[in-house]
Amino acid sequence: MQSVRGFQDIHKQDAILFDIMNAKVLSFAQFNCFESLHLPIIEFEEIFANHLGDDSDVVSKEMYSFVDKSDNRIVLRPEFTASVMRYAVENSLDKQVLPKKFFSFGPLFRYDRPQKGRYRQFHQYNFEILGASNESHTDVYGIFLASELIKKLEVQNVILNVNILPKNIELYKKKLYDYLSNKNLSDISKHRLSKNVLRILDSKEECDIEILKNAPRVTDFLEEEELKYRKFIAEQLQELKIDFEFNDNLVRGLDYYNSVVFEFIQKDLGLAVLGGGRYNNLFTNMSNGRTLPAFGFAAGVERLMLATNISAFLRPKLGIICADEECLSKCLQMINSLQEMYDCDLILNGSSITKQIKKADQLKYEFISIIGTTEIQKKEMTIKELSTGVEKIVKYDY
Ligand code: AMP
Repeated sequence: MQSVRGFQDIHKQDAILFDIMNAKVLSFAQFNCFESLHLPIIEFEEIFANHLGDDSDVVSKEMYSFVDKSDNRIVLRPEFTASVMRYAVENSLDKQVLPKKFFSFGPLFRYDRPQKGRYRQFHQYNFEILGASNESHTDVYGIFLASELIKKLEVQNVILNVNILPKNIELYKKKLYDYLSNKNLSDISKHRLSKNVLRILDSKEECDIEILKNAPRVTDFLEEEELKYRKFIAEQLQELKIDFEFNDNLVRGLDYYNSVVFEFIQKDLGLAVLGGGRYNNLFTNMSNGRTLPAFGFAAGVERLMLATNISAFLRPKLGIICADEECLSKCLQMINSLQEMYDCDLILNGSSITKQIKKADQLKYEFISIIGTTEIQKKEMTIKELSTGVEKIVKYDY
């Protein structure tokens, strides 16, 4: 028996880290006044097919789609943003008190090529800021929040890549196409040329990288106002002491971005752990012309897990051994109060104290404390570190 390729069990140490990170990110979202938005795992196919770009990888080859028993074309969601926008249109968010800030978390599905850090089912933390009229402040605030999230999760060795997409992206696409069309590109890039020319900028193939060195640059297509905006973003990031690089080749592969885009790349993995940007047109396209400015970012949980050090999050584990039955209630109450400092548990296996200590060791509990009538009378407890045998007596009012 085995699980489906690209789908994995999250268990053992990974499950501990997954849960700790989820709790941290949920409180991060709450502390920053994001509302939780729990969205369904399936949506109508058109939500993604009509709005992410037909030629995007996600739509053209990665969607898990099926026809349900009522002949609806359904997909397992490949991303959150389009679902959030579907929700925004369905609930006329543009007519409500704005801005709205949403946090969503959960599994996403892409029929991608599985490898380290790339799975067919993976999880994201997704943040969206909708209807904020001060767009420049929102962009800087959003990138700052993303950077704080990365810090909070102790993800080391990351660099922020930023780009500003020109209003006149169609002209840029045409010029890029003209330049690339007579070049000897890799097979995959040749295929992308007519379908999604911007994706060629992402190519990791040596021959493409060489050709791209002389390709038209996206910055050359920015208007004066957009160049000023690029400078503003740079100044703000410098003031915030966020390390960043402008990357002209960063386009993010989806049609809906219209201005600033960014990614945090983890250097050891060589992969993005978080990405986002401004996408003012998605709501307009979905709602037949209404407006709702939008900015969002999403972080991939599995990639964050690969890039963080679990020990930064773990608390010591303490096993309580109840030596006399009449002490049981005191032991249980004590477990409750000790949980501020330790992950604390009552040892439930082992017919003798020696066997219970052995059990605590097998369970990888770092500390034990044996509680009997003597300890309760003396109002103290002995905490023993199992790896060293070192004991510490502390006062405890049972
Ligand atoms: P995207 O929705 O493509 O902008 O991706 C946002 C983040 O989700 C990326 O920076 C990754 O951390 C993560 N991610 C995207 N695709 C995958 C995948 N197939 N497996 C694992 N994580 C992914």
